[in-house]
Parts: sequence; C-alpha cells; structure tokens
Amino acid sequence: MPVNDISFRPYEKKRSILLVEDEPVNREILKLYLKDTYDVIVAETGKEALFVLNSSFDRISLILLDLNLPDIHGLDVLRAVREDLRYAPIPVIVMTADSEAEVECLTLGAIDFIPKPYPQQKVVLARILRTIELSEDRDILRYTERDLLTGLYNKEFFYHYALQFDSYHKDSPTDALLLNINHFHSINDRYGKSYGDLILKRLAGKLLALREKCGGIVCRSEADTFLIYCPHRDDYEDILTDIAHSVSEDEPSENRIRLRMGVYSCTDKTLDIERRFDRAKMAADTVRNSFTKSIALYDDSMHESELLAEQLIEDFVTAVKERQFEIFFQPKFNIRGEKPVLCSAEALVRWHHPRLGMINPGIFIPLFEQNGLIRTLDQYVWEDSARHIRDWKSNHHITLPVSVNVSRIDLCDPSLSGKLVEIVKSYGLDYSDMLLEVTESAYTDDPDQIVERVKNLRSLGFRIEMDDFGSGYSSLNTLTTLPIDALKLDMQFIRTAFGETTDTRLLEAMIRLAEAFEVPTIAEGVETEEQVNTLKTMGCDIIQGYYFSKPLPADQFEAFLLKNLA
Ligand code: C2E
Ligand code: CA
Ligand code: CA
Repeated sequence: MPVNDISFRPYEKKRSILLVEDEPVNREILKLYLKDTYDVIVAETGKEALFVLNSSFDRISLILLDLNLPDIHGLDVLRAVREDLRYAPIPVIVMTADSEAEVECLTLGAIDFIPKPYPQQKVVLARILRTIELSEDRDILRYTERDLLTGLYNKEFFYHYALQFDSYHKDSPTDALLLNINHFHSINDRYGKSYGDLILKRLAGKLLALREKCGGIVCRSEADTFLIYCPHRDDYEDILTDIAHSVSEDEPSENRIRLRMGVYSCTDKTLDIERRFDRAKMAADTVRNSFTKSIALYDDSMHESELLAEQLIEDFVTAVKERQFEIFFQPKFNIRGEKPVLCSAEALVRWHHPRLGMINPGIFIPLFEQNGLIRTLDQYVWEDSARHIRDWKSNHHITLPVSVNVSRIDLCDPSLSGKLVEIVKSYGLDYSDMLLEVTESAYTDDPDQIVERVKNLRSLGFRIEMDDFGSGYSSLNTLTTLPIDALKLDMQFIRTAFGETTDTRLLEAMIRLAEAFEVPTIAEGVETEEQVNTLKTMGCDIIQGYYFSKPLPADQFEAFLLKNLA
C-alpha cells in the first residue's frame, strides 16, 4: 500500500524531490524512504544543489536540505534559493540535529524541519506530502489571482486588494488610473498576436516598476487595459510619456505604441471601487481618438454627464413604454446621373424626453451600447421603420428602401437575424426594403464572428452598408473579405476635406479605396453644392446630408417623398 494514500488528490506523475545531503548513510536511508513515492534527485554539495536547481527548478516540488555541507553552508544555500525568483516558490525542509539553527532557518524561509536521526518513514513522508500540498495550494491561489500573460493581478483580486489598501491608507488621498493602448487591435492585426503579447508584457513590467516608485497596486483588467491604484501625485503626464517611450523605444516610429490614461484623482472612498475606476475610464475615453492628448483627468463636467447618464438609463424603460422615441428619416440621393435621384433614406432615432426636451442619439446611443439597452431600442426603431415603409407602400405605392442602424451589440445577439426576418415578414416587406448599416468598428471587435453573422444576414437577402468607413482601424486584409453592398465614408473625411483649409486628397484616396470593393460609395454629412460637385467628380455615387435635407419626422418626410417622386 502506498504510504501517501492519505492524499485524495489525483497525481499521475511522481513528483521530484531534490535531496541535498553529503553523508552517504543518511542519503541512502532517505532514498529508501522516498523512492516509491517520489523521484529523488541527489546533490552531495551546496554547489551541486544550485547547479541542479538551475537546470531543473521547474520540475522540483520540494528541497530536503542538510545544513552541514562540505562546501557552502546549508543556510547560504537556503538564502540563495530564496533570493532567486525562479526557485523561491519551491518549499524547503531542513534536516538538522541542531535545534538552535531552527529559528534562523525559519527566518530564511524554511517551511519545516526533519530532525536527525530521522524519524520513522511514515512520519517523514507525511511531513513531506503536507508541505508539498500546501505549497501547491498556494500556487493555485497565485494563479487565480493573477493574469497568466503578465503575472499582474486580475481585476477581481485587484479590487479586493484595493479595498485592503484603503483600509491601511484611510486618510491619505489615493488616485485611480486606467491605462489603455490605442488601437491595440490593429497592432495585433498587423504584427501578430505574439508581438501584441510582448507589448503587454513589457507594459506590465513598466507598471511594476512604477508601483515600486509610487506605491499602490496594479492589474491587467482585460485585453489591453491596466488599472493602477496608488497614493496621489501630480506627475502622471511625465510618467506616461516615459512608459510609452520605453515600451516601444527600439521600434521604428510607425510601430511605436500610443497610450492613453484616465486619472480619477483623490478618489471618493465612499464610492464603490468599480465606480472609481469607471470614472478613470470615462476620463480615458475622452482622449480615445486624440492625437494631441493622451491623458485626461476626471472632472466636474464628466461628473455631470455621469449623472445625466444615470438619469437616462433610469428613464429608458418608461420611455419605450410611452413611445418617447421618434424615428426621423434622412434621404439619400444617387448623383451618378445628370440629376440627383432619391434612392433611399436612413432611419435616425430621437428622444422626446418629458423634462429634458429633445435629445440627440449622439448622447444616448453610446450609453445604451454600454449596457445592452441598445438592443431593445434598435428593435423598436426597426419595427417603427418597417411600419412606415409599409404605410408608404400601401398608402402611396411608394417603395423606398430605408437603412436602419445595427449596433455592434446587436450583432452579438444570436437571435438577430430571426428578429429582423420576423419584422420584415410581419409588415409584409421584402428583404430589399430594409438596408442594414453596420459600423466599420464592429468588424474590428471580433471579425470572424461578425463576418459570419453578416454573411448570414446577406444570404437571407438583406443588403449591408458599411457605416463610418475609414474610422474603424480595420486592416485592409479584413476589409477585403467583408460581405458588403455599399460603403459609407466616415463624415470626418468630408469635414477634413472641406474644412478651414481645403485638402481633398485624403477624401479622394478613400473613394479610390472604396472603388476597389466594387460597391457604391456613399458620402454623408454633405452640406454644400461645392461638396456635391467635388464628390461627384471624384466618383462618389450616393450622397446624404443637409444639402438635400436634414433628418425629418415621418410626416414631413412623407411629404418630401411625394414631392420628390412626383
Ligand atoms: P450615423 O449613423 O453616422 O448617422 C449620421 C449622422 O449624421 C446623423 O446624426 C445625422 O443627423 C447626421 N447628419 C446627416 N447629414 C448631416 C449634415 O449634412 N451635417 C451634419 N453636421 N450632420 C449630418 P444623428 O441622427 O445625431 O445620429 C448620430 C449617430 O447616432 C448615428 O451616426 C448613429 O451612429 C447613431 N444612431 C442614430 N440612430 C440610431 C439607431 O436607431 N440605432 C443605432 N444603433 N444607432 C443610431
Ligand atoms: Ca448610420
Ligand atoms: Ca455614419
């Protein structure tokens, strides 16, 4: 019967023990004791022990260490083991006849003692097993606390330790920081995942160094987001510049990474710890697309928008029930022929809030995307749009395709196509009556899954327009495999082309790029005749913008339709 049957843990392979002992008799006794249960690696001197550790530390479960060695003293071996990070996790049991040495051994990190002469075999084995299991339990705990890639804490433990940190620093001001890599997706995309991992590890290393300097704690909360909780200071701008520089300093300038940081300074410790980091994130998000600023502080205006956000979320359910959301329609014109021809429209939602008045989607859509409410809202918009399309058909025999916005969150919903099919069927429409606008950045999040979903929608007969093209940092590689039927240029290209200084080169390049996809190009945000003419010369096919009409409420849009199609 194996002596270690007190253990109920499965362990298929024999564990290895490093036995450091110079006296042949002692060695033989211990080898005899251990050989059925463990692989025993023997070292006769201190130097030999360190040599074995250097080559095999990752498979050694325990060190049995004699103190009286012929070369180095056992205590020095113990010290060397504890000082090397690679060996430090291996538990050490000291074997000695000298009870005086015990205190010193314990301070140096020995876990237990086996007296000489040796006790019975079963006593020795029980001690060894208990020590190994305790250390393995500690390892498991260490793994679950930590992110495997970077070795930093994970978010759950970080929050836990942050509260502990608070309890020791009740009255000293503490800052919550969030650090993120700009466009980390495209770094992964362009240079491969292992390069992305390397950057994350380097960044983690810098943050650990920062922690040494500033105190506090750090973690990787997800993908490329890191959190830092530390005593208050004012020089984060310099720190950030330093970190960003050192993470990619050997890289050519086009490969250098850009970081952004949000700082919630002197946190309110009565707030939930997650809330404190939400504030740091809010600040960081304000510099997400900035080329000039990479750091932002949470301030009063963000506090106000936080309050507004809470209010809007609270009011959402009632707003849907009371139909406070209204769909506006904005026409799109085909400009290829001599005269512009009305060819479709986009459905855009507005909120008539009973106290706050009319609210534009720019305020509430991003908010509802964060918490999934967008799914309910979008379904409301799709249905209401379908109802209007049906009414124009049945009342005026007008068939005009309407594009609706499909958020990236909708695309994660496996029942999305079912819902859309249901709407089309129940209003007696064709699939071609409803175009779906999917923003380019949706494809950057999880290209494979999104492409699959979009392909499926297309195979049902829906047509897909890629919205905000040029803003999503998708790689060209991804873009060319995407199933789409039209490209809508991001409005920013129009703004830059016809801004204070007219420079249409980038706009033209985007239209050229769009041509490679062999689908019609749509420009939105077009406000002047000059813009229309320039776009037409450049080969743009369809135009949407104030030049033709602002988004209109359904009744006014109906009148617009009748006039334009008359
Ligand atoms: P988007 O899909 O890119 O919509 C175009 C936005 O540009 C609309 O703003 C439209 O009113 C505005 N626009 C159109 N022509 C012009 C112009 O000539 N000049 C200027 N300055 N602006 C113009 P809106 O309606 O405020 O919508 C903002 C964003 O909110 C939309 O951007 C879209 O991303 C989102 N959104 C709107 N309605 C919905 C919806 O029902 N569902 C979802 N998921 N998102 C929506
Ligand atoms: Ca759109
Ligand atoms: Ca757009």
